[in-house]
Amino acid sequence: MFNVETIRQDFPILSRKVNGKPLVYFDNAATSQTPKQVIKAIVDYYSNYNANIHRGVHTLSQEATDLYEQARQKIQSHFNAKFSHEIIFTSGTTHGINLVANGFSSLLKKADEIIVSALEHHSNIVPWQMLCERTGATLKVIPMNEDGELIMTDYDKLLSKHTKLVFVNHVSNALGTVNPIEYIIEKAHQFGAAVLIDGAQSSPHIKPDVQKLDVDFYVASAHKMCGPTGVGMLYGKEEWLKKLPPYQGGGEMIAEVTFEKTSYADLPHKFEAGTPNIAGGITFGAALDYMNAIGFENIATYEHELLSYATEQLSAIKGLKIYGTSAQKTSVISFNLKGIHPYDVGTILDKLGIAVRTGHHCAQPIMDFYKIPGTVRASLAFYNTKAEIDALVEGVKKAKMMLS
Ligand SMILES: *Cc1c(COP(=O)(O)O)cnc(C)c1O
Repeated sequence: MFNVETIRQDFPILSRKVNGKPLVYFDNAATSQTPKQVIKAIVDYYSNYNANIHRGVHTLSQEATDLYEQARQKIQSHFNAKFSHEIIFTSGTTHGINLVANGFSSLLKKADEIIVSALEHHSNIVPWQMLCERTGATLKVIPMNEDGELIMTDYDKLLSKHTKLVFVNHVSNALGTVNPIEYIIEKAHQFGAAVLIDGAQSSPHIKPDVQKLDVDFYVASAHKMCGPTGVGMLYGKEEWLKKLPPYQGGGEMIAEVTFEKTSYADLPHKFEAGTPNIAGGITFGAALDYMNAIGFENIATYEHELLSYATEQLSAIKGLKIYGTSAQKTSVISFNLKGIHPYDVGTILDKLGIAVRTGHHCAQPIMDFYKIPGTVRASLAFYNTKAEIDALVEGVKKAKMMLS
C-alpha cells in the first residue's frame, strides 16, 4: 500500500524549514532527496567496511569488494541487463555519455552522421559536438513541435546509411516529455546505427528493461533516484563495450603493464580506471532497493495523480503558460507568468520555502524554440503531496500579484 505520509517519514530533510516555512521541495529533476535507509547505508559503509576494493587480500578489502560487486548486480537486475559486466560504474550520466562519445572517436569517419534531438540536455549535445569536431562527422537534430514532442516523421527522413549513432533522452528534463524511444531504437537499428538513451530523467520514474528495448547504451545518475551524488551507471551491450577503447588510463583498468605495451582488463574494469566512488556505488544499490520496495508502478500512478492535479491548478491561473503539453509526460511542469521573468518568480517562491528551478535547465535550444529566456520548473517526486501543490499555487498567485 502506497502511503505518502509514511514515505515522507523516511526523508529527514522534508521536515526542515526554509525561510521560516516548511520546505516544499519541487526541484527533484535536478537532484532527488535521500531517504534515511540510504543515509544509513553510507554511515554503515564508512563505519564498518571502508577499504579500497579489488586488490586487497585483507578482510575489509574483500568485504568492500563484495558489497560493490553486489551493487553492480542490483543495478544489472534493476535495468535487466543480460550480464553484470555490461554495467559500468560512472560518476554520473555526463561521464557515461562522454565515455561513449570518446569511444566512438576511433570508429567514426568523415561522411558519418550522428542524430540528436531538439529536447536534449547540454550534456547530451556538447560531447557529440566535440566528437564531430574530432572526426569530421555531422550532427543532425530531430526537431520538436509546440507541445514539446519530437517529430518522428522528420526523424525518419534524417536516417540514412550514413547514420552511425542516435542519442536521445528517454525523458526531457526541461519539459517532462517521454520520448518514443522504442520507435527510435527500432528505426535506428534498421539502418545499422547504435542508440544511446540518456535515462537521467526517466530512471526516477520508470523502470526500463534494456534487453526488451534492445538499446545499445543506457545511462543514469544515482542522485536523481534517491541515491548519492557522484555516481551513476552506463549500460552497454557486451559487443559494443568490447569494441570501444578504454576512456581513461590508470590503475584497475589494466591486465598487464610494461613500458612497451599495456593490455587492458576485461569488462567492466576496462572502463573503471582508478579508485571508484565505492561508498557511492554501494549506496546506489541501497537507493534501488528503496525505490523497488515502494514499487515503480506505485510511484508512476501516484506521480501522475500529482501531475494532473498540479497541471489543473496551475492552468487556472490567468496569464500562466505551461511549456511541454504532451500526453506522455513525467511529473515535470515548466511554466511562465506572462510578462514576468522566471527568476523573479523563483525568488519569491524561495522566500515561501518552495524550491523550484528557474532558467534554461541546461536545455537552451528548447528555450530558443519557445523564444523565452527560461521557465519556472516544478518537478515532483513520489514524496510530494497535493497540499504542497496548493502551497505552490498560492505562491505563484502571490508572485503574480507582487510582480505585475
Ligand atoms: C541531470 C541530467 C543529466 C546530467 O546528469 P549528471 O548527473 O549531472 O551527470 C543529463 N541528462 C539529463 C536529461 C538530465 O536530466
